[in-house]
Amino acid sequence: MDTAIFDKDCRACPRLATFLDTVNDRYPDYYCRPVPPFGDMDARFLIVGLAPGMHGANRTGRPFTGDHAGILLYTMLHKFGFSSNPESISTDDGLKLTGCRITNAVKCLPPDNKPVGAEINGCNSYLANELASLPTDSIVLALGGIAHRAIIKALGRRQVEFKFAHQALHDLGAFRLLDSYHCSRYNTNTRRLTTAMFESVFAQARALLDS
Ligand code: SF4
Repeated sequence: MDTAIFDKDCRACPRLATFLDTVNDRYPDYYCRPVPPFGDMDARFLIVGLAPGMHGANRTGRPFTGDHAGILLYTMLHKFGFSSNPESISTDDGLKLTGCRITNAVKCLPPDNKPVGAEINGCNSYLANELASLPTDSIVLALGGIAHRAIIKALGRRQVEFKFAHQALHDLGAFRLLDSYHCSRYNTNTRRLTTAMFESVFAQARALLDS
């Protein structure tokens, strides 16, 4: 059985592989490959985003790095003691995560930030393996409904029994799943997710991990 949590050479999704080639032609300096999980491989706290952003993770090769979506995330990671630095700039900026790792439900940049169902499903075995590798008493933070549903699917559980809701906590047996609205530019600009709301999510995660 394949237990890989990531393959930097994966091209299993034809649309995404072709799109990455096109983007790489246009931006030769960009990373333009599947983006690996980043952080502490023994962590009990796993954050699951949706997919790399064009000028963020797809450019730099580190999740939530180089665009707006990472600003609030790394600010909170630093505030709650998970990150050595409040700002993630590039893969050689020296930033270290402690007790925390960040991954994406879909490892490759999708057009318009929207992976199709087949791509979410295609990448799901990597996520399933990563979830299966977590230590006991772990907390998984899903950023947005798509990440939440990818996690439920990876466990083979019924979606109807575990509905996404901001700051909902689900006991999945192997770990507990905490939900948050995604920290995207759209959600923060429209104040669907405020700094105070995101801080409350991290305070809850920190308390759960420390209890
Ligand atoms: S999204 Fe996942 S499964 Fe699809 S090509 Fe990228 S790494 Fe492979």
